[in-house]
Amino acid sequence: RQAAFRTDLSVLLDQVGTGKESLSFMKRRIRRLAQQWATAANRLDAKLEQQWRDQKKILVHVGFLTEESGDVFSPKVLKGGPLGEMVQWADILTALHVLGHNLKISMSVKELQGFLGVPPGRGSCPLTGPLPFDLIYTDYHGLQQMKQHMGLSLKKHKCHIRVIDTFGTEPAYNHEEYATLHGYRTNWGYWNLNARQYMTMFPHTPDNSFMGFVSEELNETEKRSIQQNKVNNMAVVYGKEASMWKVQQGKESFLQILHKYMEVHGTVYYETQRPPEVPAFVKNHGLLPQHELQQLLRKAKLFIGFGFPYEGPAPLEAIANGCIFLQPKFNPPHSSLNHEFFRGKPTSREVFSQHPYAEQYIGRPHVMTVDYNNSVEFDSAIKEIMRTKVEPYLPYEYTCEGMLERVHAYIQHQDFCAPEPPFIPANLSRKGSAGGSRMMGPLFVPLPNTTALGWASNVTAPSAWPPLSSLRLLVSQEGQSCVDACQSAGFICEPAHFRFINNKEALRRLDVQCEVVDSEINHILPAFSVVRQECGLQREPLLFSCAGHSPKYRRLCPCRDFRHGQVALCRDCL
Ligand code: UDP
Repeated sequence: RQAAFRTDLSVLLDQVGTGKESLSFMKRRIRRLAQQWATAANRLDAKLEQQWRDQKKILVHVGFLTEESGDVFSPKVLKGGPLGEMVQWADILTALHVLGHNLKISMSVKELQGFLGVPPGRGSCPLTGPLPFDLIYTDYHGLQQMKQHMGLSLKKHKCHIRVIDTFGTEPAYNHEEYATLHGYRTNWGYWNLNARQYMTMFPHTPDNSFMGFVSEELNETEKRSIQQNKVNNMAVVYGKEASMWKVQQGKESFLQILHKYMEVHGTVYYETQRPPEVPAFVKNHGLLPQHELQQLLRKAKLFIGFGFPYEGPAPLEAIANGCIFLQPKFNPPHSSLNHEFFRGKPTSREVFSQHPYAEQYIGRPHVMTVDYNNSVEFDSAIKEIMRTKVEPYLPYEYTCEGMLERVHAYIQHQDFCAPEPPFIPANLSRKGSAGGSRMMGPLFVPLPNTTALGWASNVTAPSAWPPLSSLRLLVSQEGQSCVDACQSAGFICEPAHFRFINNKEALRRLDVQCEVVDSEINHILPAFSVVRQECGLQREPLLFSCAGHSPKYRRLCPCRDFRHGQVALCRDCL
């Protein structure tokens, strides 16, 4: 069946259920953004020009909100606990509903069993018949519950699963045997999924798919009125829990410098009195409902982060409401190797500031990333912010239309169940004619410091998504990951393209001198060592990794182009 866009959210609101603060929070959000979703649906509908969209049977099982997982989040919704996950789940549910899919929502193991048709009760009762869904969106908690209650059949059906995973899972952590043998084992990883089945909150490592969420959008009139009503010396602090303010103790801190110039507001949860961590000069509003926070942000000039929480939605909301986001640079970067918060998470990604997306994808004038230990630098940043005029800004990928477009593309094109069609590299001539049609002939991309050879095979792979036309082959520096190599060339690493460059032909095209070409199981491969003239190809497709790097190796990197404001999609991806 063809999926038809929906603009009425009442059925969805009924499906979400009641009885928990987390559900009420999600429903308030869905209602508040309903108009925005409807407008976006109409726009995307027009943009796709009658393109056929399959209606999918989708199960959403929100594992972290089930009683069986302990549900530690719900009781904290009104007490300053994390809300980012709820923001994202509310938006995922809305996107799937608006795109017109056949949706079932489960928030308990009992409902999960009911929808899957497995007999209730403890232990592992394998699902015997076919899976009654095309797609299942869940999280790590839900995955564990499905393993317990679907038993062996989970293995058979796992290609249908998508795991909502805020911070991401790198391939080396995902591959059970490899992770166990090479020290990448954590509490979370080792599910042997295709790494693109993990869907993140921000576009962290392109090894995963970027799911995202949405932020409030403003029309031109609202934008103008915001700019007229900005209070130049008003700052709002990022941090709704008192513990996030602890960093402030000590000598003349940056908060005191800030206070010299600006009126400082906070939205810190408190029970009866001001939390001791929050200085007396701060005007604390207490935790605000989302729409009231937006109102506060509309007046404020500055939204300032203290280093925690990492990578949340609030800075995007602040920037969308015309604030400048000021955040600390992390030197050395934070990661699972050196920071408690990231410890045990299935990624070695290094975080160079509180909100790397804001830093890398938005940047000045909306985002300033400075060293908070340098009071001169901090002082001059505040002064600069007070005199800089900025317009409200929201990247397209965080608008409702952008999220619908991306989720639509994933649902229609990402297929982890079909066997990968065999790819036979063409026996290309050394110097193919540059340019050529999009599907044929090599493309040459000259790049500083990077051996570069764009490549599109003259073997077409019609079912490949992203399409082969988006592929650009690069070689990284020693020690450099493909994430960085592609990024520094203005592209993005595309793990789906590894299978096209994991061959001798690619090495030959790049003029790599190989004494030997081995095929091994290692997440750095395909790669080569210049000194030893050793080349290695990847034997385990699950270990194709954009994130991997090693000081001894230069990597072959499959990069692709991307749409401005929609990094998840290439030019020809829709
Ligand atoms: N938020 C809110 N009231 C407040 C402060 C924040 O409703 O007083 C909301 C905010 O709109 C954002 C969400 O909390 O969408 C999550 O924000 P944050 O970036 O702090 O991420 P978290 O750490 O909660 O995941």
